[in-house]
Amino acid sequence: MSFDRALGGRPGQRLYARARARLAERLTRLGVTDPRVLQALSDVPRHQLIPEALRDRAYADTPLPIGDGQTISAPSVVALMTQALELRGGESVLEVGTGSGYQAAVLSRLAERVVSVERIPRLASAARRRLDELRVANALVYLGDGTEGRPADGPFDAIVVTAGGPEVPPPLLEQLAPGGRLVGPFGQRGTQQLLRVRRGADGVLSREVIGQCSFVDLIGTHGWAA
Ligand code: SAM
Repeated sequence: MSFDRALGGRPGQRLYARARARLAERLTRLGVTDPRVLQALSDVPRHQLIPEALRDRAYADTPLPIGDGQTISAPSVVALMTQALELRGGESVLEVGTGSGYQAAVLSRLAERVVSVERIPRLASAARRRLDELRVANALVYLGDGTEGRPADGPFDAIVVTAGGPEVPPPLLEQLAPGGRLVGPFGQRGTQQLLRVRRGADGVLSREVIGQCSFVDLIGTHGWAA
């Protein structure tokens, strides 16, 4: 079932659907070439995952505040990070930093299973409720320190970290399956390099810088101090 039908197919939803189609055109110009990723961004109703007062800006390519000093990332950042995960459909994915639940909803369209961890209770429960409203059945949200990963649910074929940390948390590397990809922002507070780490079939790790970015802090045992 499409998200719009899950929402009752209301006429206003069609306006949002058109705004998403325009967003997809913009993402293409910005280098998002994976048709599955473009389709997922065209399908997920970002306006349903942000505070109601901000809905008229839902499809602008910009981060927006979601409370507790946190943000929903810009759609282009979500799209480029998702594309870098190279998902084909059968993967088990870990997301660190659920925030609004938007990235989790996008991933749910592209992988078999999404496990998402958020450290702020209010955000975790709001994301859980919104994903339920959107009838996303294959994404589970857990409250906790995502820098520890979710060893009970791993290993993961793909891991996305959506908050900026000083270094790649070692537990996440341990939970990355052979052939897996980890994408996330690492470096200084306020400015980071977007890294992709691959674990080869032989288990060897390699890393590449795929961009520059600025994310809110990754806070936890293997992140920054609160
Ligand atoms: N992916 C989110 C979305 O689609 O809305 C945006 C994430 S927001 C930029 C970063 C999130 O990471 C915040 O909600 C923050 O509370 C969370 N976070 C920071 N450190 C964390 C940690 N150690 N474990 C889990 N979540 C963490």
